[in-house]
Amino acid sequence: MEYDLVIVGGGPAGLAAALQARKEGVERILILERDKELGGILQQCIHNGFGLHEFKEELTGPEYALRFSEKVLQQGIECMVDTMVLEISDKKVIRAVNARSGYMEIHAGAVILAMGCRERTRGAIAIPGERPAGIFTAGAAQRYINMEGYMVGKKILILGSGDIGLIMARRLTLEGAEVKAVVELMPFSGGLARNIAQCLDDYGIPLYLSHTVVDVIGDARLEKVVIAAVDEQKRPIPGTEREYEVDALLLSVGLIPENDVSRKTGVLIDERTQGPVVNELMETNIEGIFACGNALHVHDLVDFVSAEARKAASAACRYLRREVKPGAYREIHAGEGVSYTVPQKFRAENLAEGLELFLRVKNIYRNRRIEVRDGETTILSLKRPHLAPGEMERVLVPGKLLEGFKGDSLTVTLAGGEGA
Ligand SMILES: Cc1cc2nc3c(=O)[nH]c(=O)nc-3n(C[C@H](O)[C@H](O)[C@H](O)COP(=O)(O)OP(=O)(O)OC[C@H]3O[C@@H](n4cnc5c(N)ncnc54)[C@H](O)[C@@H]3O)c2cc1C
Repeated sequence: MEYDLVIVGGGPAGLAAALQARKEGVERILILERDKELGGILQQCIHNGFGLHEFKEELTGPEYALRFSEKVLQQGIECMVDTMVLEISDKKVIRAVNARSGYMEIHAGAVILAMGCRERTRGAIAIPGERPAGIFTAGAAQRYINMEGYMVGKKILILGSGDIGLIMARRLTLEGAEVKAVVELMPFSGGLARNIAQCLDDYGIPLYLSHTVVDVIGDARLEKVVIAAVDEQKRPIPGTEREYEVDALLLSVGLIPENDVSRKTGVLIDERTQGPVVNELMETNIEGIFACGNALHVHDLVDFVSAEARKAASAACRYLRREVKPGAYREIHAGEGVSYTVPQKFRAENLAEGLELFLRVKNIYRNRRIEVRDGETTILSLKRPHLAPGEMERVLVPGKLLEGFKGDSLTVTLAGGEGA
């Protein structure tokens, strides 16, 4: 089988990438999706809040996904669902399997990695205590409730205040459960401010910052969870323990970009994002293999996933048309207060509309400036009244600011303002 473009993952990233490639005239496009339906994680996100940027209206996750999947089908873009991609060679041969065709080898002109991400589990964060039933990742609980029709518990504690944890606190409350509290190890929430207001404050659910779970008690089923405050080194403070009688504990303790397939291919992974290292075209270290969406770095808003996927697809089209210009790479470093940037390197030769950077900060900051520096010279300075690790920042460095750029790297850093 031969295609111009093969997209691994039929979530919002994969769907937007496919539509963009078709718009730019690519004929033979194939989406490979391991689930039975297209739409990715959005299928289980039945709350609203999707699409404010993309459609200027608030949609549920399935509604947002449907707007893309319907167009993909109308455009006659080929999709193989229930199909698992096992491996991709550095020559862009994709090995995949499904129940209808068995094992397949698919040759692609270009590949887009759009596999989304997975949740960190109890094992990954080493929660002490017994091992009863009743401990779920928040996403798994969401799938049980919203898609399979099972309730996960009646009295619930949630560890982690990322968006999934916050959304599940509200969802469980609406389904009749008593959510005792959301417990967060960090001194700030990892979720969007709007989700704290709409999912906790509106329902009177307490949020305990700088706290963690120190014991899990239960034989067959979870009976109690003990939490405690933590010090600045995140060590539990003796004497601050509090016990909750609960039958379910939900973990919302982080997402990890899904890159098992990418690693096997030899794609270089950035330890900070856990996604591929990419250049200005969202291209990995392997020529013709691009990445976008949550497989590249964890996004808070799906609208940005769709926009990034279109960018990766346009770049893949340029690659297929042999329009990518070679050039010397410049690194992009994360400076003071910045935990990462995407992309991590660029070639000025391929920047038509400037350099678009996505970044996250390490802490909560007020009245800072995001500065882009060429050595000691600040070439761009943007005021930000509020910065938080849970909110991804976008910076566009106009092309004209890079014209005189002589250095071998750029640094993105925080400057000025009040402390955390
Ligand atoms: C609980 C929750 C609440 C959210 N709430 C909001 C919100 O209110 N507003 C908002 O804008 N955003 C929200 N988001 C974020 C948004 O859903 C994600 O940013 C978006 O879904 C990411 O898109 P993606 O295509 O990168 O990944 P995904 O949606 O995860 O899609 C990836 C797809 O790749 C497939 N795949 C993976 N590996 C393989 C393989 N080897 N072979 C074949 N297929 C594979 C998967 O099955 C999946 O379908 C929320 C996310 C979650 C989890």
